[in-house]
Amino acid sequence: MTGGARSPDLVDRAGTGDLHALRGRLTGGLVLPGDADWDDARRAWNLAVDQRPVAVALVESVEDVVKVVEFAGERGLRIAPQGTGHGASALAVLDGSILVKTSRLRGVEIDAGAARARIEAGALWEDVVVPAAEQGFVVLHGSSPDVGVVGYTLGGGMGWLARSRGLAANSVTAVELVTSEGRFVRLDSENEPDLFWAVRGGGGSFGVVTAIELELYPTPELFAGAMFWPLERAGEVLRSWRGWAETVPHEVTSVGRILHFPPLPDVPEPMRGQSFVIVEAVFVGSEADGNALVAPLRELDPAADTFAAVEPTALQHLHMDPPQPVPGVGDGLFLERLPDEAIGAFVQNAVPPLISLEIRQLGGAMASSAQHHGAVGTLDAEYVMFAVGMAPNPEIAAAVHEAVDRVKAGLAPWESARTYFNFAERQVGGARLYPLKTYTFQRLRKIRATHDPAEMFVSNHPIPSAAVIDTARIASAPLFANLPTAELEELAGAMGEAEVDAGTEIITVDESGSTVYLIEAGEAEVIGAGGPSPMALGTGDTFGEIGLLLTEGKRTATVVARTPMQLLALSEPDFERIRQKIPEFERSLRSLGLERSSR
Ligand SMILES: Cc1cc2nc3c(=O)[nH]c(=O)nc-3n(C[C@H](O)[C@H](O)[C@H](O)COP(=O)(O)OP(=O)(O)OC[C@H]3O[C@@H](n4cnc5c(N)ncnc54)[C@H](O)[C@@H]3O)c2cc1C
Repeated sequence: MTGGARSPDLVDRAGTGDLHALRGRLTGGLVLPGDADWDDARRAWNLAVDQRPVAVALVESVEDVVKVVEFAGERGLRIAPQGTGHGASALAVLDGSILVKTSRLRGVEIDAGAARARIEAGALWEDVVVPAAEQGFVVLHGSSPDVGVVGYTLGGGMGWLARSRGLAANSVTAVELVTSEGRFVRLDSENEPDLFWAVRGGGGSFGVVTAIELELYPTPELFAGAMFWPLERAGEVLRSWRGWAETVPHEVTSVGRILHFPPLPDVPEPMRGQSFVIVEAVFVGSEADGNALVAPLRELDPAADTFAAVEPTALQHLHMDPPQPVPGVGDGLFLERLPDEAIGAFVQNAVPPLISLEIRQLGGAMASSAQHHGAVGTLDAEYVMFAVGMAPNPEIAAAVHEAVDRVKAGLAPWESARTYFNFAERQVGGARLYPLKTYTFQRLRKIRATHDPAEMFVSNHPIPSAAVIDTARIASAPLFANLPTAELEELAGAMGEAEVDAGTEIITVDESGSTVYLIEAGEAEVIGAGGPSPMALGTGDTFGEIGLLLTEGKRTATVVARTPMQLLALSEPDFERIRQKIPEFERSLRSLGLERSSR
């Protein structure tokens, strides 16, 4: 339930004449429907996405951004910041929004002495990787040279050095940003620490980032490459890779994948139109040690093997991502484990029209927490999967969506409750992007409510501003009548974790490590296989990790769900796991004075 405060009728107040006036005030460009360059300006990197904002601002300075934000604020318009449009597929419809493209802001400054890079919002990773390497540094870029540094980093940022150095978001040292009030701020651990924490994993819900400052790492020795085997060996190779990956040190970041190279002229001849199972890996260490590490993979007798000592700039091309904009449909998920059965399901569904299906090993530095981390925190799953296909027209796009759904359904028994921000190419309930046992999502909502209460900023995965929860309402429930104020406030905060409309009658308890939602009636957004859908909650319905429905103050049903947002996607092993937790849950209920009733 992300219902924003801006209604579409406000948009009508921004007449075209008004927008022309804004054009005159910007150093950069403002492109409007009907202009000759309208289609170029509104195009996203992902060509399958048809973006139709009210205008596209091609900002060239912080002042331009401030002017656009002030203009939007006065007229009730929204702002959708965008670098490249790699992440455009999950963006909401842009009605009433000005698309603020940062692609003209590509400056990069390397401060070798401080081991920092200051990167303007429109810079691509290749704009940073090359000058950083020239000065003896590596950065935590991802698989593709033309992904935007800012969008990638705000969503986490998992690259080839992720197991050894962590997520890019946790290497950010400062962020320059324009708030919804048009205020320019530099965020760091001393200045606006809440907002600084929120943007590092919370995405684009908090303002327009104009520049970001990242830590640089001295270039280590790097050994990297890929091995290719015929597709028929997919199961055997991926099982061996998984076994190998689980023994290697954190200095190795690796991917097991299936690639159906399209029969296109720009794909090199030996690969064109062919399908392979591939292992790609980067080792931070010497060539001799690297050769020893990959020896077990070489024993599988690959058809091609490119492993060698490499320069840092070579890592940008290891994954063979498309070098230019393409129309794509894809989606991902975290995997708690990767047993043989999961590999079997993955291989079985790895068929065209999907082109690339990959499983990246997590762990290492991504799984270890540190005080300075941003909202992205740590990733607890063991693997992450992403599947994608080309979608040149709506019919093929529909077929690719179905193929992605089949892969996800096959892996559902091992899927984590959380999903990875940057690989979620469909809209997901924001709570699913953060660890469930922390208050990360709730804290993000509060920070959004402080800095963008009217939800001006449109992000690919929006953080709704916090629902206003009335502590007096909670105190009116007999169960909580005698709670001290501090605990009441904590409960009110915990309620923010459930995406329930303000005013819905819910009471939340955090007890025995489980979040318990006591729901009398209301509406929830439930994410199922077909995407998010609103659901009225009545008798027999509830949501929450373990929830129970109260009717007229009496408990009438208990429903257990793996996550707040996945009530419809429970599978057998999950039921088993949750069933085992029920005695503990029952004990905590009794300690709260609740009687068991039906079911
Ligand atoms: C080919 C390809 C390879 C990829 N490889 C990886 C990978 O290896 N690892 C990984 O983690 N992810 C990867 N991704 C996912 C990628 O990180 C996300 O799609 C990311 O959102 C792209 O950032 P962008 O700026 O290029 O895209 P955009 O679509 O421009 O931005 C995505 C979102 O970021 C926010 N944003 C962007 N700029 C600003 C700004 N200036 N101010 C405020 N908010 C802003 C907005 O909410 C925007 O909707 C890949 C994606 C593709 C298509």
